[in-house]
Amino acid sequence: MISDLINLTKNCKKCYGLGYLEDASLCSCRLKLYRYISYYEANIPRIYWDCFYSSFMTSKANNDLLKSILTEPEKNIDFLNLGFFGPTLSGKSTTAAMIAKAVIDKDLLSVYWFNFTDLLYQLRRRFTDNTVEAQIDAALKSKLLILDDLGRDFALDKASAKTEITRIFQSFFESARFIILTTNLFITDLERNFDVKFNSLVSLNLTTITFQSGTI
Ligand SMILES: [Zn+2]
Repeated sequence: MISDLINLTKNCKKCYGLGYLEDASLCSCRLKLYRYISYYEANIPRIYWDCFYSSFMTSKANNDLLKSILTEPEKNIDFLNLGFFGPTLSGKSTTAAMIAKAVIDKDLLSVYWFNFTDLLYQLRRRFTDNTVEAQIDAALKSKLLILDDLGRDFALDKASAKTEITRIFQSFFESARFIILTTNLFITDLERNFDVKFNSLVSLNLTTITFQSGTI
């Protein structure tokens, strides 16, 4: 994937693929390449690298909060514990990716993106397959962890994975690190499927933002 991006900069008409302009400053293509490499290292899915919204399918107050986080993440670090609720295609994941990119672009915190189902899968395999350990390690050491698309498969999962996820949430909140969780489950679904400890961690630490369906 990265080699494809390097090919993109090779075809740049501003710097003729050199990466530098005549005044020796970095060309915008090279800066974009560096940003993309950071997104890749943070495991943000490629489909979100160029996504951008100027407004969000949520309340006016939440729109204001999201906009201020995105324009000045450095002043809003304390607001990065977020729970995005709402139906599929209401913009939750894209909004989470925009925040992740804003934090990366300003070099504020280390960020790691995990699809929730993938995280569960990796957690189950970690003791039998060492190669997944590096990915889990990067996630658990990050300062901002994006957990995308918590769904019903998790609700049906064995108790051991739920305990492990609860432990991950607890360790993040206790060490002043941040989690952005997206889910199309309702809060009542969470209450039904998770233990009291997980639910209280989520409700005490994550600012809930509910997205509506529709086009943005
Ligand atoms: Zn260029």
